[in-house]
Amino acid sequence: MSDIAQRLQRVRERIQAAERRWERPAGSVQLLAVSKTRPADDIRAALAVGQKRFGESYLQEALDKIEALRGEPVEWHFIGRVQSNKTRAIAGNFHWVHSIDKLKQARRLSRQRPGGMPPLNICLQVKLDAEETKGGFEPDQVAAAVAEIGTLPGLRLRGLMTLPAPADDLESQRRPFRRLRRLLESLNAGGAGLDTLSMGMSGDLEAAIAEGATMVRIGTAIFGPRNRPPAGQG
Ligand SMILES: *Cc1c(COP(=O)(O)O)cnc(C)c1O
Repeated sequence: MSDIAQRLQRVRERIQAAERRWERPAGSVQLLAVSKTRPADDIRAALAVGQKRFGESYLQEALDKIEALRGEPVEWHFIGRVQSNKTRAIAGNFHWVHSIDKLKQARRLSRQRPGGMPPLNICLQVKLDAEETKGGFEPDQVAAAVAEIGTLPGLRLRGLMTLPAPADDLESQRRPFRRLRRLLESLNAGGAGLDTLSMGMSGDLEAAIAEGATMVRIGTAIFGPRNRPPAGQG
């Protein structure tokens, strides 16, 4: 078995153990393998043992891998910053985007989604702690964004995503995830019909599953330490 297959197996076991510990239904947490900075052969090694969902952050690098793996049954998820001049390529090549943090990007993606493809699955990125430097909607802007994005024909709004600052203990890790879950619950109480909480990475997947994650985004625990990001992309 390859190293990647072994590490993937260990991650699956962590997910299953967390599902049992927090009384989540078996199989209710999906695994997104984050393959950014890793070569197409690493994706092939994971595909060979049944992993189909892959996450990428750097567009040009992702497009090269999508081309190299054309014909393989990969579901491609974009999880990086969505730059306005890159939306057409994202709309034409991915199945999901987790990192929408501006309405303008959502409108562009909807308009640019090719007619022959099903609507693009979308999660809104939400900013839940002050230290975090990444993007995201402020929690109090999310309801209005959900209302508008729900009307865009090229998109299918699935849920919320967050990327909190790393924390060491379980309770601190759980806090932002709990806030994201409560936000999703309140949107659904208003009829939003969202089914996805994209939260949890290699270091905090247990905390995220405790708080209701439906998709964890795991990179280093599967592929090992990351290579440097490609130059000029961020
Ligand atoms: C890189 C990345 C991950 C994976 O992080 P690991 O700590 O390697 O598991 C998850 N989500 C996003 C948005 C990322 O950019």
